[in-house]
Amino acid sequence: MLAVDIIRSKRDGRRLSPGAIESFVQGVSSGAWPDYQISALLMAIVLRGMTSDETADLTRAMVASGERVDLSSLPGIKVGKHSTGGVGDKVSIALAPLAAACGVTVPKMSGRGLGHTGGTLDKLESIPGMRTALSLDEFRAALADVGCAIIGQTASIVPADKVMYALRDVTATIESIPLIAASVMSKKLAEGSDALVLDVKCGGGAFMKTADTAAELARLMVAIGTASGVRTEAAISRMDAPLGRAVGNALEIRECLALLKGNGPPDLAGLVTTIASRMVRLANRASTDEEAAAAVHQALASGRALDRFSRMVERQGGDPGIVHDEGVLPTARCRTTVRSPRAGMVAAIDAERIGRAAMRLGAGRDRKDAAIDHAAGVVLAVTHGEAVEAGQPLLDLHHNDAPGLDEARALAEAAVRIVDTVAPAPPLIIDWIRP
Ligand code: URA
Repeated sequence: MLAVDIIRSKRDGRRLSPGAIESFVQGVSSGAWPDYQISALLMAIVLRGMTSDETADLTRAMVASGERVDLSSLPGIKVGKHSTGGVGDKVSIALAPLAAACGVTVPKMSGRGLGHTGGTLDKLESIPGMRTALSLDEFRAALADVGCAIIGQTASIVPADKVMYALRDVTATIESIPLIAASVMSKKLAEGSDALVLDVKCGGGAFMKTADTAAELARLMVAIGTASGVRTEAAISRMDAPLGRAVGNALEIRECLALLKGNGPPDLAGLVTTIASRMVRLANRASTDEEAAAAVHQALASGRALDRFSRMVERQGGDPGIVHDEGVLPTARCRTTVRSPRAGMVAAIDAERIGRAAMRLGAGRDRKDAAIDHAAGVVLAVTHGEAVEAGQPLLDLHHNDAPGLDEARALAEAAVRIVDTVAPAPPLIIDWIRP
C-alpha cells in the first residue's frame, strides 16, 4: 500500500483499514516512511479523527513495533498506573511504594517533563545516585525484590511512538484524542501489567482542558485496555491548580516523603490513597472498597509504605538516607516570596502559569536536551478558599542563578487570584470511567 494513498484516504475523511494502519506503523518504525509523509498523515488524523476501531488498530500496531515486557515470572496481578500529566503531579512516586506495601506489584515506566508539566523521572533523579535507566532484566529483578520500580521507557518499547511523538511535538499534532490514546495505551500495554489505573487530568494545567474531552479520552483508553485483556479503569481528576503545594523536582520528592510520613497535603494524599485503593482491589488484595482503603491506611500509618520507598530508592542506586535526612536532596540557594496584593480569599491558583514559572526557574526544559536544576521550583503557601491578608506570603520561588527569575515572578503573581468570597472547591476526582 502506497503511503500517498493512505494519506489521501485519511485526508478525504475515510476510515483506514487495519492493513493500512499496519503499513503506516511499519513504515514509521523501519524508516521507510519519510518524516514529511508521517507528519502529513498525523495532521490528517488530527483534522479528520479516527473511529475507536481505527484507534485500537493503531494501538495494536504500535505495541507490535517493539518488545512487550514479559512479567509472567512474577507472582500475582501486576497493576500499572498512568497519568496524562499535570503540574505538581508526583502521585506515582508515593503511590508505587504504597501499593507495593499492600502486596501489589507495580511496574512503572515513566517519562520526562516537557513543557509546563514535570516528569516523574526528573523528580526521581533529584535523589543522589538514583538510576532510572534500568534494563528490562534489572526492572524484573527490582520488581521481584521490592514490589515496585519506576524506570524510563527502554528503547525497545514502542519505538514507533518515539518517532511519532517527536514529530507530533514539532508539527502541532499532539492535540488529538485518538493519537494521545494510542500513544499512551501502546506504551502501557507493552509494559506487561495485568491491570491498569489511569489518571486523566482535565483543566487549565492539563492537555485536556474540559471534563468532556477528558472523559472522551478516558473512555477510549479504557475500551482499548479492556479489549486487549488488561482490566483498565480511569479517574478523571481536576488539574486547574497544582497538585499539592510543591512544584519542582527535589521539592516534590520532599512532599512525597511528607505524604509517606502521614503529613501530605490533603488533595495529594486523597488522590494517592484513592488510586492505591483501586489498585489493591484490581490486584484482588481486598474484597471490598472499605477493606482496600483500610489496607492502604494501615500501610501508611505503620511506616511500611515509607520503608518500601526507601527500598525502591536503594534498589535503583539512590541514597535511602533521604527518608530520614532530606538534607541530601539539592536545595536552592535563594528564595523569592510573592505576597498577596490585597486581603481576600484565594479563588484560583493557575496550574499552567505556576508550571511555566517553575520552568523559568530551571525546574523544567524548553528543549528535550536542556539541563534542569533539580533544586528549583515553586512552593505554595496557600490553597484554594483560604483567607489572606494584604502582604501575606502566597508562594516562594526557589532558585539558584535563574535568568528567568523576573518572568517567573510575573507568572507566579498572575497565577494567584484573590477575590472577596469563593465557593468551596469541587472534589478533585470528578468521575471514574470503568469498562
Ligand atoms: N503522553 C503520551 O505519552 N502521549 C501523548 O500523545 C500525550 C501524552
